[in-house]
Amino acid sequence: DLVLSFETSCDETSVAVIENGNRILSNIVATQIKSHQRFGGVVPEVASRHHIEQITSCIGDALRGANVTYDELTSVAVTYGPGLVGALLIGVTAAKAVAWAHHLPLVPVNHLAGHIYAARLVEPIEFPAMALVVSGGHTELVYMPEENQFQIIGETRDDAAGEAYDKIGRVLGINYPAGKPVDELAHKGQDTFHFPRAMDADDNFDFSFSGLKSAFINTVHHADQIGEKLSHEDLAASFQQAVVDVLADKTKRALKEFPVKQLILAGGVAANQGLRDRLTKEIAGFSDTKLELVPLSLCGDNAAMIGAAGEMLYRHGVRGDATLNADPGLEFEWLVDEAK
Ligand code: ATP
Ligand code: MG
Ligand code: FE
Repeated sequence: DLVLSFETSCDETSVAVIENGNRILSNIVATQIKSHQRFGGVVPEVASRHHIEQITSCIGDALRGANVTYDELTSVAVTYGPGLVGALLIGVTAAKAVAWAHHLPLVPVNHLAGHIYAARLVEPIEFPAMALVVSGGHTELVYMPEENQFQIIGETRDDAAGEAYDKIGRVLGINYPAGKPVDELAHKGQDTFHFPRAMDADDNFDFSFSGLKSAFINTVHHADQIGEKLSHEDLAASFQQAVVDVLADKTKRALKEFPVKQLILAGGVAANQGLRDRLTKEIAGFSDTKLELVPLSLCGDNAAMIGAAGEMLYRHGVRGDATLNADPGLEFEWLVDEAK
């Protein structure tokens, strides 16, 4: 089984070839970060234009890299949401064109299912499983009783964790995407500010990061006004400690109520070393739950994860046709097989 997969939901143009849903034969990722940095964030029109310019060469590189021809492919998988509509459309259109020209089945993939299924490229996922998906646009606890069932048991009420990193990074003079540099700064500092841990004590699995973000920004602005110099290392460490505390506490609470065989940490923020260390330390204490950290190279957006999810959806009969459209606000929850 060979899947040609596409990912263009944001600022990465990516095409991959995946064998049997779990082996990467190629995973081409053309990043556009440099083009967006001078605007301090992703500009949708710029993203679309880059995807158009890159997609054809990415397809060629992915097939060549895998040493595979179109005739050998089993299916074509593509992210159709959530994400930027103009960006998604380039991947969807390219995938439809390839599927139509080569008489291949088309499999629409939810971007977040892709982030979770990246775990499968390392080890088989064992069900029931739980995923903590932390990314630029999402923070969710997802319970998966079986392989094609996703139930959101908790989510952010406002900002996503990655979004909060990017916004507080800006205040420290760090350009988008700020997650990694803030993570690195945090390791050199101490939690001296004790920022609020929103909703940590609440009896649910939801998150909120906008209060933390505001507390952080107010602290920095106030210090600026009175001409006080604050340690960026301590600010970053205090912010990160607050984020990691809440993510770890809520995840542990979720595991108590939904015992699972595996906990998957996925999404761009899953690359955070503080979060990886904390979960490694604390989840090891949960007798039967195995922790699966998506490898750093597959945390950010990539087409390999879309192929990994696409192969699973293909087996469940999920298909798209010529009418498949981008769905920027695509919901993420299904408990029964969805025939597309
Ligand atoms: P979504 O997946 O929700 O649609 P997205 O695709 O834009 O959003 P990803 O590409 O999955 O998001 O993740 C990007 C985010 O990850 C950015 O906000 C970035 O700052 C953050 N990030 C990357 N590395 C780290 C890190 N080491 N620590 C914290 N955040 C990080
Ligand atoms: Mg990205
Ligand atoms: Fe993503």
